[in-house]
Formats: sequence, C-alpha cells, structure tokens
Amino acid sequence: MRELLDRLVAGEMTTPEEWRALLDCSAPEVRQALYEAAYRVKLDTVGPTVYFRGIVELSNMCSKDCYYCGIRRSNTNVERYQMSEEEILRDALWAHEHKYGSIVLQSGERQDAQFVEQIERILRRIKEASGGELGITLSLGEQSEAVYRAWFEAGAHRYLLRIETTNPDLYRALHPESHTFDARVACLDTLRRVGYQVGTGVMIGLPGQTSEDLANDIAFFRDRDIDMIGMGPYVLHSETPLADGLDSIDPETQLELGLKMIAVTRLVLRDVNIAATTALQALNPIGREMGLQAGANIIMPNLTDTPYRKSYQLYEGKPCLDEDSTLCRGCLQKRVAGIGETIGLGEWGDSPHFLKRIHVSRGEER
Ligand code: SAH
Repeated sequence: MRELLDRLVAGEMTTPEEWRALLDCSAPEVRQALYEAAYRVKLDTVGPTVYFRGIVELSNMCSKDCYYCGIRRSNTNVERYQMSEEEILRDALWAHEHKYGSIVLQSGERQDAQFVEQIERILRRIKEASGGELGITLSLGEQSEAVYRAWFEAGAHRYLLRIETTNPDLYRALHPESHTFDARVACLDTLRRVGYQVGTGVMIGLPGQTSEDLANDIAFFRDRDIDMIGMGPYVLHSETPLADGLDSIDPETQLELGLKMIAVTRLVLRDVNIAATTALQALNPIGREMGLQAGANIIMPNLTDTPYRKSYQLYEGKPCLDEDSTLCRGCLQKRVAGIGETIGLGEWGDSPHFLKRIHVSRGEER
C-alpha cells in the first residue's frame, strides 16, 4: 500500500483496481496513511485554503421520485415550500456581506416556465446587488440546454449535478424508469458545452454498491474531466422506498467510506475542488473537518432561513436544523481554524483544474 500511495502522490498512472484496494482497506494505519497522502497532494495542488459556498435551499418542490430522497414527489409527509425572491436575495446578500465569495442555489427539480424564469430573475438581481462579486453555483437538476444557457447568461458560472452512481444497473434500481442515467450524463455534457464549471458526484455506501463501482465512479470523474466534486455518504430517510427493509446502516462504516472516497479522488484527480459535504457531518459532528483532512477543500455552510430547514431533509440526522446562518458561520470559522487552515474570504475559489482547462483550450484556439 505504501508503494501505491507513493506512486499516487507522485502523480503516476494508476488503475481503478488499485484504487479499489485503498477503498477496501480497513486497517487504521493504512487509512491514516491514505488521508495523509491525500492531504499532501491537496496542499501541493489547491493549498490549505477552504472556500465557503453558502447554500440556499430555495424550494423542496420536486417533480422527481428518487427512491432514496426524503423530498421525493411521493413523500406526502413533507410540507412543501418555495422561498420568495426577496428571501433568496436577502440570504445571498448576507453571504456577500460576510465575504463568502460564492453561493449555491439548490432545490428540488422543477422544469416549468415559472420556475425557470424566477431563477433567471434572481440570478440577475443577485449579480446586480453584489456588483457582480458574488459567484453563483446552481444545483437545480436536469434542464434543457436552453435553460442552462439562459441561467449561465444571467450570471451563474458553476453547476453541480450529481450522477449519483455511474453503475447503470444500480442507477436503475434507485430511480423510477423515467429517470435515466443517459439523460443525466447528457446534461453533464450540455453543461460543459454551455461553459459552466461542471461538478458531479455520487452517493457513497448505497445498498448494492461495491468498491468496484466506487472506483469506476472516480474513473468517470477523471475521464469526463470534471472540475468539482460533491459527494457524500448515503444516509437513510425512513419515508423512502430504499429504506424499506434496510436495517440501520452503521454510521462509522459510512463515514469511513466517505472519507476514503474523498482521499482517493484527491489522489487521482489532484487539482479539482472537492466538497466536504453535510452528509459527513450528519454521521459525525466533526465529519466535515475530517473531510478537509482527507483531501476536501470546500465547505457549504447552510444559509437557508431556519424555518425552512426542517422541510429540506433529503436524509435523516441533517445537522444545524435549528441554527441560523450567524451561528453556522461562527461555528465553521472555529472549526476551520482548529485544523490549521484558512478561509478564502471574498474569493470565488474556482477549481484550478477548470482554470487550466480554459487556459489550454484558449491556447489551442490560437
Ligand atoms: N434536485 C437537484 C439537487 C437536490 S438533491 C438535483 O437533482 O441535482 C442534492 C443531492 O442530495 C442529490 O444529488 C443526492 O446525491 C443527495 N441525496 C439525496 N438523498 C440522499 C440520501 N438519502 N443520502 C445522502 N444523500 C442524498
């Protein structure tokens, strides 16, 4: 394992079979060596700066029915909400005022014209009110090329669309027939063509998922030249079909697998942005710090107005439901300082991978 880690740190060619051995390792000293190797590569490629992406969960209305997700269309126990434009703008400007650098607008999936136009208006208003300074990432699901383009032109520059799993059979088992793997992959291609920095990711530790699947997920990220990764452990939500008949999943195992995935992804992809997602914190109070120490460099503090938070539970045990943004901010700053890193205040913190990609393609055009 040591030799393999040395080769990865040196940036040598390695194979998914080799990554799989790392994902399977359980000996604490090997895991520690894995995290340390990933941390070394993180320092060399993206450095010890953590960038904040304040996340606004603007609506839990969703036309999709994913078998794992708590806000799926068929869950009638969810109180549905849609934040007003004023509320969204206020949260965005709070982030700007506190030098977050960028925000993420996320919601359930809707394709109707009213929604599309509302997002476009909000994007323009945020850009204008922040003097163009606030970076905006969208995480609003599958849309047509025209919609992706309209939102890009209105000011969004990054888009996060998780592929969820790159094993097409597993994808089929987790979704109704109308949600197809191919359509989701096509959306990633479209986003790239439109000009976004493209982020994707998977759920880790899904029932039926193997370490071979996870290694193939990393190969997918690499082969598609992805700029940003947002992935996290699968966490049960009892009001979903996937939870039926599943015993509780050991949080320790899920957390460990999530951290190993971050570390191997950092070792293989090197200069991309990788988020330490909230699902890690749902499993362990210091899960996100552990994610940073395993190679992640992005944190997404929750900006959603407190009363809405309880209605945006994709999974159970989501932290900070009763806190507001001020508390989240204070708590995060302490946590980041506690592991000896700094926060990139007032900067977009674009992925170096994207910047190089753009540079190379401009060079080729000449
Ligand atoms: N509707 C948007 C984004 C909202 S959901 C879209 O489709 O892209 C954001 C992410 O939450 C999903 O991509 C999924 O990976 C994750 N998620 C949903 N249910 C989950 C669960 N039970 N455990 C862990 N992550 C989950």
